[in-house]
Amino acid sequence: MSTAARLQSEGLRTVVLERHDHVGGCAGYYRRDGFAFDVGATTLVDFQPRGVGGQLLDEIGFDPPDIDVQDAYEVRLPDRTVTLYRDRRRWNRELRETFGDDAAHRAFYRFLERTSDALWEIARGDVKLPMQSVGDVVRNARTLGLGNLSLLRYLRWTMADALNHFGVYDDVALRKTVAALVEDTVHATLEEAPLLNSILGISIRKAGIGRAEGGMYGFWTAFVDHYADIGGTLETGATVTEVTGRRGAFRIDTDSGRYRAEQVVSALPVDLTRRIAPSVVGDRLDEHVETLREHEGGAVVAFLGVPEEEVAGREFTHHQILRDYDEPLGNGNNMFVSVSAPGDTVSAPEGHRAVILSTHCDVDPWQDLDDEAYERKREAAGERLVSGARTVYPDLGSNPVVYEVGTPVTYEQFTNRPRGAIGGYRQTPANTNQRAVPQDVGVDGFYLAGDTTWPGLGTVACLVGSRIAAEHVTGRR
Ligand SMILES: Cc1cc2nc3c(=O)[nH]c(=O)nc-3n(C[C@H](O)[C@H](O)[C@H](O)COP(=O)(O)OP(=O)(O)OC[C@H]3O[C@@H](n4cnc5c(N)ncnc54)[C@H](O)[C@@H]3O)c2cc1C
Repeated sequence: MSTAARLQSEGLRTVVLERHDHVGGCAGYYRRDGFAFDVGATTLVDFQPRGVGGQLLDEIGFDPPDIDVQDAYEVRLPDRTVTLYRDRRRWNRELRETFGDDAAHRAFYRFLERTSDALWEIARGDVKLPMQSVGDVVRNARTLGLGNLSLLRYLRWTMADALNHFGVYDDVALRKTVAALVEDTVHATLEEAPLLNSILGISIRKAGIGRAEGGMYGFWTAFVDHYADIGGTLETGATVTEVTGRRGAFRIDTDSGRYRAEQVVSALPVDLTRRIAPSVVGDRLDEHVETLREHEGGAVVAFLGVPEEEVAGREFTHHQILRDYDEPLGNGNNMFVSVSAPGDTVSAPEGHRAVILSTHCDVDPWQDLDDEAYERKREAAGERLVSGARTVYPDLGSNPVVYEVGTPVTYEQFTNRPRGAIGGYRQTPANTNQRAVPQDVGVDGFYLAGDTTWPGLGTVACLVGSRIAAEHVTGRR
């Protein structure tokens, strides 16, 4: 949608073909009994002016529903709570008061602050990875600027390398907090997570995490109206079964009709793109598909529509919970809680709130279960999420109007993502940045976007990728 809207507002004629009955995919929504639930992404990251999302709004002239940017969100640890303030000063004070405050810690905090400032500026700039031409090298050098050239030395570092380098690895609470934030965004362990990508991921609080009025439902319904206003065509319930042809003469077959296009942008995960366009992409995606398959992950999500009193009286509406320092992350240990804002009657009926609990999981254990085993597993996963969220909201789920649980099986059913692998892949130095999937895989007029292309960070990947894909289409790249 973002690629199409960018191109449409530049004067091209675009058609979006979407399999589901509405758009949004993993950043979409569903409605039940007066509630609107975000099915995956619950936050709009960096939608402030000049931000990655803000630039999209500007480019396409879209004025979205009110976005409530959080001043802070809270991370509950087994032995303490840390509040992730957006405000720099408060955040630095919080770090020093919650974790270590010696010279080594302060040097680490300064490093994170400086590097994340630089990285967000770069992400908002004209950076392109992987670099595929001398032109890309020149553009990246310009975007990076002389002052940031020193960042290049960290390209092969992991987050664990940095914690060790600064001598703070043994601060268990700090290490586990960083690990939880990294798992939530880069989906990797400290030992495998690329440092620069991780710093970008763990600093999304700084870029601003927001929730539109009505959540993703509010955002997408307004977006779709705007796309129609600027002349775009959206076909829902249109599953693309095959793409053939070449620049100027692509043929796109769907289960409801045939389209012809000068150029195509596939915003599907790369394994699906390879499946529907084998004659177009040839073997160009094979290696990427193999690598990403080894780095896939899933999620379990519980959706609750509850009376207001079950979640009342809290300062924050977003919380991350790490229940146990010694247990592996995921499967309810490290989970995210997102509650609709008080007074947001688009997300929930008067006197009620929509609550979404999510955690990462492996996709393997969810494959090929018989109905009974699947239901048992799903029920247990939902209960674990609710019991985790009760560390913040003790009464949550005692009298829900809606209670449903989604799993990798649900994601596969509704988004078509193979094996229900969602949320971007587990990033390591071996599969990201210069080794990431580019938007241009060498087929004239056929480009890629979406979260399996660089930079692999959820909706930020989609937005940055859409900018680059749109530039390829218009020939500006
Ligand atoms: C639980 C969870 C929490 C998350 N939290 C966040 C967050 O807070 N912030 C953030 O930035 N990101 C978050 N993410 C990640 C983010 O939601 C995804 O990375 C992003 O939405 C992926 O978008 P996409 O367009 O690449 O792919 P998708 O969302 O998978 O979209 C692909 C679209 O293509 C359609 N489609 C599939 N096959 C076909 C076909 N053959 N023909 C036509 N259409 C087809 C699908 O229906 C879908 O609409 C989260 C994800 C999950 C699951």
